[in-house]
Amino acid sequence: MIDIYFKEKFPFAYNYFSTLLELVKKGEKQFPQAIIFEGADTKNQYLFALELARILNCQNNNEKNCNCINCKWIKTFSHPAINNVSQIHFKGEGDESKTVISVKQAKKIEQLLSLSSDYHRFFIFFSSDEKKYEDGELVNFKNLGYDEINFSIKPLNYSTFHPTTPNALLKSIEEPPQRTTFVFLAKSKEDILQTIVSRCLTFKLNSKKENLSYKEIYPIISDYPNIDYYKALDISDNLQKHLKENPDTEIVLNQFMEFLKDLIKQNIFNNELCQKIKQDIIFINNAIKQSKANMIDKIVLDTLMLKIARGY
Ligand SMILES: [Zn+2]
Repeated sequence: MIDIYFKEKFPFAYNYFSTLLELVKKGEKQFPQAIIFEGADTKNQYLFALELARILNCQNNNEKNCNCINCKWIKTFSHPAINNVSQIHFKGEGDESKTVISVKQAKKIEQLLSLSSDYHRFFIFFSSDEKKYEDGELVNFKNLGYDEINFSIKPLNYSTFHPTTPNALLKSIEEPPQRTTFVFLAKSKEDILQTIVSRCLTFKLNSKKENLSYKEIYPIISDYPNIDYYKALDISDNLQKHLKENPDTEIVLNQFMEFLKDLIKQNIFNNELCQKIKQDIIFINNAIKQSKANMIDKIVLDTLMLKIARGY
């Protein structure tokens, strides 16, 4: 049902929503009314939201090359009930705001929801401005059969909303008519006001590969294996700073582990180093357990880095 493209992109969400959509189509479950998609790949989050909207509105078999009017409208960005909401989308008459999602937009949503609809309505919130794309930049849109777009798709953050907009949205988010879904695209839910977050289901849209790539933490840990007692706490501090923007300790620890596994492969004939790395992998596994038990990051990471520096 959901295009196989997303199975590779977002394996967890693909499985979760595939099952859910089947139950929704059978009338055994309701589709969530407010969702946050978290992760770095905002363009694909957007496409995933459209794919869910498409399946919920398809009059046919939900297949990806379906030609029903709903699928066609969605792929040409002209579906009357699938709304982009950004600084440049969904502006009503007399709304002069150009740099924020305004209270007037929130009011417009409220007004729209007071009318009945035959469709499953979507409001997809993201940050946007006008943009011209280079050739090949929108390959994933093309492959999925979408028309070209002329706007950017960026994650929401605090400055995307006018400060009073979230409050104006609450009523709509909390008590929408049936078959209405709000989707918020963000890097992290920390970038969205808590009043909205607490009313949403949050899904991390990360690919497996993305999760385990240690590219981002490499600059922090690149001194390994030469980490002494003094460097240890600096590295711990820097990892904690990194976690403020990427708040998933387990993922970061797993990235560290991937780095060590790669290092073993590259140093397979250096027995001494391999022994050290294997010992440190055990330390990381312990740290993951501590983190799962809700131990605070500072203690988990200080302890880990000191063990790595000392070797015991
Ligand atoms: Zn269709």
